[in-house]
Amino acid sequence: MMRGISSLSPSRTTSNSSTTQTSSPTRNSRELRTSSRKPAATRDEDAIALYNKWKITKDRPITYTPANSSPEPWNTKAAHAFVLAVELHNRDFERYALSQFVQNCGFMPFGPWTYIEKTTELYSAVRLFSNHWVAWNLKISDGHAKEYEGLAAANLVDQVPREVRDPRIYDLEHWYELCGHRFHTGCQHDPIMRQERMLAAANKRAKAPLPEVGGDEEQRMQQETAAPTEPRSPV
Ligand SMILES: [Zn+2]
Ligand SMILES: [Zn+2]
Repeated sequence: MMRGISSLSPSRTTSNSSTTQTSSPTRNSRELRTSSRKPAATRDEDAIALYNKWKITKDRPITYTPANSSPEPWNTKAAHAFVLAVELHNRDFERYALSQFVQNCGFMPFGPWTYIEKTTELYSAVRLFSNHWVAWNLKISDGHAKEYEGLAAANLVDQVPREVRDPRIYDLEHWYELCGHRFHTGCQHDPIMRQERMLAAANKRAKAPLPEVGGDEEQRMQQETAAPTEPRSPV
């Protein structure tokens, strides 16, 4: 972990020191997952149905679109589908389920947050996203978002910087990489940052010295537009 940067993983931040965790959790998370204690009996029937449907279509992850929500049961069971995908070791379905979760998390009638904190591994992509979502919502509501009270992720709110992003806009990949462990802006998965960099680069190009075409031409054009010439009489 990098020093001085907020971690999105609440239960690690409460332990005594940084010396206890030296290795990067991201790459190890597969091992954590495969040692999952969830037997097949806990699998959700809706999630299984979603998986069976997806097996036929093999849809690619969706791209977040503001104010859109997916048909049921994605609206309520995207987190369950993610958990199922992890159990099945199906990375493609997992990413698809995560993309559905990101799309729908603002519309979920029953908050999946407790389910996620109880069921998913600390560094799983859906958990990191969920942590960010909960803390971000609490931050922007000034602590008034009641549905997030009592969650472990609520403890992260003090770490949220002022310029934190809506986590839904990040590329999905963000939640699978180390940058997804921290509240910050400015990684390559942040589309606002990418846009700003593009604009800055374009500005730089625009400011590069150009041949002098300026003054006269501009004045001439202004005069022309200010005083339109009268239609000429035919000769
Ligand atoms: Zn990132
Ligand atoms: Zn980053």
